[in-house]
Amino acid sequence: MTIYQKMLVTPFLSLSLYTGLIIYGLVEYTDNNREIEGISEKYLTLLELSNENSRLFKLIVVQFKDAVLAGEQDWVSNTHEYKVQINSNIDRLTDASEVLDPALTSQLRNDFNLYYTNALTLSLALLKNGREFSTHDALIHSVERYNNLTTTHLKSQNEQIKQSLTQAIEDSNHKLNQLLVWGTGIAIVLLIIMVSVTTIISLSTKRSFAQVIDRMKALAEGHPDFSRRLQHPNKDELGYLIHWFNKLSETLERDYSKIQKLSITDKLTQLSNRAHSDEFLRRQLAHSNENRRELVVIITDIDHFKSINDRYGHLAGDHVLRDFSTILKQYTRVQDFIGRWGGEEFIIVMPDVGLEQAIKNAERLRLTIERHDFGEVGQVTASFGISYGIDGDTQEGLMNRTDQCLYKAKQQGRNQIVVDKRN
Ligand code: GH3
Ligand code: MG
Ligand code: MG
Repeated sequence: MTIYQKMLVTPFLSLSLYTGLIIYGLVEYTDNNREIEGISEKYLTLLELSNENSRLFKLIVVQFKDAVLAGEQDWVSNTHEYKVQINSNIDRLTDASEVLDPALTSQLRNDFNLYYTNALTLSLALLKNGREFSTHDALIHSVERYNNLTTTHLKSQNEQIKQSLTQAIEDSNHKLNQLLVWGTGIAIVLLIIMVSVTTIISLSTKRSFAQVIDRMKALAEGHPDFSRRLQHPNKDELGYLIHWFNKLSETLERDYSKIQKLSITDKLTQLSNRAHSDEFLRRQLAHSNENRRELVVIITDIDHFKSINDRYGHLAGDHVLRDFSTILKQYTRVQDFIGRWGGEEFIIVMPDVGLEQAIKNAERLRLTIERHDFGEVGQVTASFGISYGIDGDTQEGLMNRTDQCLYKAKQQGRNQIVVDKRN
């Protein structure tokens, strides 16, 4: 996954989750409103029925009293209509058994009807026989008793409806509150996840970028580190950058080592050039001085090379130089250093070898060259100057002594070895 995708995925996920949450919240909110509306409708109807019962019951009580007091029997008959209405209301209230205690409703029906029957009987008796209350003690007692019971039941029923209504609204609101708490919780968690993911991506990206910048800086400042490649396991933009940076490093490393090799190699003979020979000798002499190790330096120069060029041409001369170099490589040890010191002059540095052995090696070389067939040029010879590194030797001193030996070898007739006497 790319960094760009990673950076986008969390906000988009959060956004879609949160949008889902908001839609769910809105649906729940609408449902809740509808539920409250339903609750209100249902409970208000029940409340209306209950209130109507209380009002009708009071009317019945007053009507009976007024009828007795006024001596109007017709008024008593008028209560029948109220009684029927109350019973009809109680029937409807019985249906709402989930809100109202059915036992209470049934008690209300019983006690009200008993009240009504007793009150009717009492009223008719009083209307008929005059207001002789003392003769109807038992009936009056029953009327009072059922009146009280009916009033209490009516109140209890009313209370029950109100309590159920309050409870239903509270339940409904509780759901909304829970939704709000969940919504807030999820929003906070999403925010934390978003911040964490963004921080992790930023930190790892920053680390990888810092690595690339360090390498580029080193490259620009001319001291590149080709020994290790940058690592980035993810196939993101940074991964591609690092992949191509590593490819660039590989190309540069190849070119760099090519240039390095070119800068120390002589093109014609493929031996070390003068600059590198100088540098090698300097380091080897310092090392030998420091570790008190033996060091032999040989300078060999092809005899009468100018006349070879003059007679056979420059290309033939080049050929001789190449053949000569091959012989030098073949007849020296691996640890010996060979360099092209000048035009047809070569240096051989032999570390950790005694002078006797070095002279033997040089003699073998001289003979090999002498006996070698250089093609159209035929026989070629070379002169050798040999010097041995002594304690505290300088490069200049050592080379001067070797040069003098070579000069002597030339003077003494060429194709010979002259060893430095001071050894
Ligand atoms: P001596 O025996 O005293 O060393 O005589 P010499 O002729 O070998 O020495 P001299 O210094 O007179 O001549 C060296 C010649 O080597 C001169 C120069 O043209 C030739 N030479 C130098 N470099 C090259 C090269 O790369 N290729 C060819 N073909 N000739 C070269
Ligand atoms: Mg020469
Ligand atoms: Mg020369």
